[in-house]
Amino acid sequence: MSLKALANCTYSDLESLVSNLGQPVFRAKQIMEWVFKHYELDPDRMLNLPLKLREELKSKLICMSSEIKEVSKASDKTTKLLISLSDDEAIEMVIIPSHQRITFCLSTQVGCPVGCRFCASGEGGLVRNLKAHEIIEQLYHGIAHSGKFPDNIVFMGIGEGLLNFDNLAEALEKITEADHIGMSPRRITISSSGYVPGIYRLIELGKPFILAVSLHAVDDETRSEIIPGKLRYPIAEILQACDDYENKIGRMVTFEYTMLAGVNDSAAAAEKLAAMARGHHAKVNLIPCNETSEEFKRPAEIDILNFRDILEKTGVTVMLRLEKGGKVAAACGQLRVKHLKKTADND
Ligand code: SAH
Ligand code: SF4
Repeated sequence: MSLKALANCTYSDLESLVSNLGQPVFRAKQIMEWVFKHYELDPDRMLNLPLKLREELKSKLICMSSEIKEVSKASDKTTKLLISLSDDEAIEMVIIPSHQRITFCLSTQVGCPVGCRFCASGEGGLVRNLKAHEIIEQLYHGIAHSGKFPDNIVFMGIGEGLLNFDNLAEALEKITEADHIGMSPRRITISSSGYVPGIYRLIELGKPFILAVSLHAVDDETRSEIIPGKLRYPIAEILQACDDYENKIGRMVTFEYTMLAGVNDSAAAAEKLAAMARGHHAKVNLIPCNETSEEFKRPAEIDILNFRDILEKTGVTVMLRLEKGGKVAAACGQLRVKHLKKTADND
């Protein structure tokens, strides 16, 4: 039987574990406090537990299965952690400080099956889904590294979370439940490439997460130049799912728009996106392309600003980060690809 992970144990899991080990049940509460209040997954540091119990926890549970392998920092203090998993695969999480707040960007898969043509994460396809505890452990690494609990979490790292729905939902449950980590779902954004069946499953969870949908284009033809066909849904179906999300969950949806020079950055596209955002009551997050290949280029700054101004003039709320750290965050997947290439070169 495979071991259970400490990061997603429930109180009753721990209660039965400690009683099977002949320990009083209050120990379960002490362990819960370490894991979910002090963000500690290493039993060796749970100093109010008897040494024997700490040893038994290490043998009966997966405590921390991943480790930080590399840290890369941008000039604005945005920090990217390369995290290696128990099978030596690697993922990334990013710590983004801005205006007294700190945001963690987490991954949901190793690689990605969607394969958007500008994105490093999709380059080698999907390797595997992350397990729920591997998703949660990224949060623990971020807290240990920054010394802070995040104000916001965005699932905008490697992978399409809605294609790893069950594990993502389990991680979200632990992160939001009051007797676990207890973070408000209102501070958690789930970004999707527009995987419509996944949006409907997210609606079924019934919690007020923020949904961000990577639209990238205002017509299906342009979108098909950016996102390959197999997992791409028609824009009309995505917009319908966004409307249903807002009506049932009561939260405004965000449209993400990765700006690609000469592909989707025209004034006409901006006008159409503005109309779409107004019609569907959405905010827009403009992400200037961080170049990962020769194929797609970042538009000139003046074109990015003009595009933004067209949206803003019609009253649409637009988010745009132009500084360097934004590039580090937007380019999630690049550190992993660099690491994979380095490993391959050394073989
Ligand atoms: N798979 C999900 C979440 C991860 S990607 C999704 O696609 O939404 C998160 C965001 O980063 C997406 O909007 C994606 O378009 C953007 N992104 C990925 N690579 C990028 C790059 N090289 N430059 C700019 N944005 C990028
Ligand atoms: Fe996957 Fe998102 Fe990258 Fe597209 S942008 S390949 S969906 S991680």
